[in-house]
Amino acid sequence: MTVSRRQFNVLLGASTATVTLGLPNVARAAAPHVVVIGGGSGGATAARYIAKGSKGAIDVTLVEPSKQYYTCFFSNLYLGGLRDYASIGHSYDKLASSYGVNVIHEWASGVDRDKREVILGSGARVPYDKLIVAPGIDFKYDSVPGYSATASGKMPHAWKSGTQVQLLKAQVEAMREGGTFVMVPPPNPFRCPPGPYERISMIAHILKQKNPTAKIIVLDPKEKFSKQALFMEGWENHYPGMVEWIPTSISGGVKNVNVESMEIEADLDTFKADAASVVPAQKAGAIAAAAGLTNDTGWCPIKPETMQSAMDDNVYVLGDASIAAAMPKSGFSANSQAKVCANAVRGALTGSKVFPARFANTCWSTIAPGDGVKVGARYKPGEGKIAATEKFISQTGESAEVRKETYEESFGWYDGITADIFG
Ligand SMILES: Cc1cc2nc3c(=O)[nH]c(=O)nc-3n(C[C@H](O)[C@H](O)[C@H](O)COP(=O)(O)OP(=O)(O)OC[C@H]3O[C@@H](n4cnc5c(N)ncnc54)[C@H](O)[C@@H]3O)c2cc1C
Repeated sequence: MTVSRRQFNVLLGASTATVTLGLPNVARAAAPHVVVIGGGSGGATAARYIAKGSKGAIDVTLVEPSKQYYTCFFSNLYLGGLRDYASIGHSYDKLASSYGVNVIHEWASGVDRDKREVILGSGARVPYDKLIVAPGIDFKYDSVPGYSATASGKMPHAWKSGTQVQLLKAQVEAMREGGTFVMVPPPNPFRCPPGPYERISMIAHILKQKNPTAKIIVLDPKEKFSKQALFMEGWENHYPGMVEWIPTSISGGVKNVNVESMEIEADLDTFKADAASVVPAQKAGAIAAAAGLTNDTGWCPIKPETMQSAMDDNVYVLGDASIAAAMPKSGFSANSQAKVCANAVRGALTGSKVFPARFANTCWSTIAPGDGVKVGARYKPGEGKIAATEKFISQTGESAEVRKETYEESFGWYDGITADIFG
């Protein structure tokens, strides 16, 4: 297989580094070479920090199919009409032009760990000294009977960045007067524990303005959820009578979804939806399993000191795909893990100082405009896994001023973290 002229030009054009390209494959470079699979919160941060920190001593290649990354974080605010879609899109231009990262817009289809090569969709191979795998999540579609990738065109999961969230917004806005929106959140563990409940809040916010007699039914496979008391208090304050949360012990669990009739059948009742969002159970992005980095949970075990894969010292796994124990699967977590990983990779390849791993996370959620809540913690390596050291959470009954401050803080966080990820 050969590297296409387009990839060849992308590699040459984007790089200020010294990757030597040859045919049929990308030749092993003179400087140590790091390949990153996945240009999301984890992968793009790692690529930027390694390229920036090593000042040309390490060649960095990022393999990511999309040219524009739309953040899942703040996609709920887009749903609620508080952000426009363009404002949650980010390009890879600065990673290439300001930091010399070679960006290849292709899928990685496999990893040959013995030869230390990433196999691209085109068949070209990219050699690495260290590989960082940050592909986010994939879905276990059959965890919800009747649901499938095709069904997500009618009942969007909208749980990956991209156009699904636009579809969901259009469907909610087109609901008949007094109609029903049904949300089926995922079981644990999943990307962004408070995300489904922020989504419900933002959909309630649109409905309150445009369709105030509409109802939201939440058929949760769980018995409790993140920031539950805060969300429930918020729903009662802002959207009284609109949201009905039904845990599995009451509904008996979802037995089938029918996207043609828009019916969601639970053990004890069938719910007819005018619009619905079904988010199935999750696992690490498929390439992680293809590379042999997952265990029987479907996620990737890691060493907490470095984010190295427990399966291979030359491979690091970041973000949602990793088993980060106490850390939730969030953009903030992935970004924090990427910095620990970048420091360890630079140390391994150039001998630069490696600092002890320290991680942080905060998840902000908007319940209504001006009413934000948060939960967060600091972390460090514990016995074989990442462990929390300090935790904090917003309290029920907080003043409107505190909630407004928290809400505004989240906007500052979004600007800061996206600049930290994409440059
Ligand atoms: C509704 C919602 C709200 C959220 N809100 C927040 C929030 O407020 N705060 C927060 O911190 N987090 C939030 N999150 C979670 C956050 O979006 C994820 O945890 C985060 O994006 C994980 O980063 P990642 O790098 O692991 O994966 P991603 O950011 O998903 O990046 C993975 C990348 O890998 C690429 N990829 C996958 N497979 C391959 C392959 N084979 N070859 C090449 N590339 C590949 C994908 O195209 C993608 O760009 C939210 C999520 C959702 C769904």
